[in-house]
Amino acid sequence: MTSPRVEIDLGKIEANARYLVRRLCACRISVTGVTKAVCGHPDIAEAMLDGGVAGLADARIKNVIRMRKAGITCPISMIRAPMLSEMEDVIQYCDASYNTEMDTILKLGAAAKQQSTSHDVILMVEMGDMREGILPENLTDFATRVTATAGVALKGIAANFACMSNVAPMGGDMVRLSRLAAQVERGCGPFVELVSGGGSANLPWALGENSSGRVNNLRLGEAILLGTDPVTGQPIAGLHTDAFALFAEVIETKAKPRAIPTKSAASELGNLKLVRNDDGKARAILSIGQQDTDTSGLTFPSGVLFIGATSDHTVVDSTNSAVSVGSEMKIGLNYSALMRAMSAPDVVKAIRGKQRMNGSARDGETRPFLALI
Ligand SMILES: *Cc1c(COP(=O)(O)O)cnc(C)c1O
Repeated sequence: MTSPRVEIDLGKIEANARYLVRRLCACRISVTGVTKAVCGHPDIAEAMLDGGVAGLADARIKNVIRMRKAGITCPISMIRAPMLSEMEDVIQYCDASYNTEMDTILKLGAAAKQQSTSHDVILMVEMGDMREGILPENLTDFATRVTATAGVALKGIAANFACMSNVAPMGGDMVRLSRLAAQVERGCGPFVELVSGGGSANLPWALGENSSGRVNNLRLGEAILLGTDPVTGQPIAGLHTDAFALFAEVIETKAKPRAIPTKSAASELGNLKLVRNDDGKARAILSIGQQDTDTSGLTFPSGVLFIGATSDHTVVDSTNSAVSVGSEMKIGLNYSALMRAMSAPDVVKAIRGKQRMNGSARDGETRPFLALI
């Protein structure tokens, strides 16, 4: 088979989505499936939808267009604030977008009017992650201006956690967000339909004993795709953690002495790397590198240890594992490694499970075959 490749088990992705949808439904929280880590891959988006997610969200309009062209008609929102240079596409292909700038919202309204439609706006509130967000004290004034803007409708408010900072939200943050929803309603009138609490980092809170208050939506990527908690990296009980596997081919196996820095290498101090003191140990080289994935986010089979990687090579210690040239190694991926592999042109995406037919219709039954796409 062609390598490197990512093998994708759609059944496990669907099962993860279904489990989370069912658990969160009990506390009246809907799930939006986030497809940015898989570049809006239509089969994966369909698997999320088959698992019952209420809609999809992506950070890039190109990924949204990819899903629309494949025949996906569910609500899709842009979770990254749209660029002024992509207004027309955002209006045409997305039902809603997350926003933090009035200039952008005015332009979205104008573009929506031009296309004789209306666009839903969700306001992202800054609650400590310090990435995007309107400061809470400015939210009601901001929302009032949005409600006065033609072409857009205020659909809801949202918060974001554990993206820039690695801090999970606490119950108190969700109480504050709920209060902000009520405050916006008092301040400017319309019912705040959507209160989106955050992403996979919110699951410990949502699946815990807390009352969800006004929070009625989560935007989930990592938990559905990898079954892991983005803050701790640990598996979430009840979810599959092996829906994705990376396969790479071995192109060299040799016992090598420890690298001795040459004069010229030593002079380039900035380029020196720490290498393990593994004199004379068996090493293998895999034909995959930084251009294909985040090599620091890979999990190797037991007995294989990561030594280092360059743009096209990954070197591992294979002393405790029988590895031969031409064999394939099955490797696990974290979110960052997955995202890079899914967007790398040289990594084949091999789908296992339900297949789309002719790019539009869906196949009802599960078929145990692999297809290269
Ligand atoms: C990426 C992203 C998400 C999904 O995060 P996960 O940790 O993968 O669940 C949700 N909201 C926003 C704004 C994002 O950028």
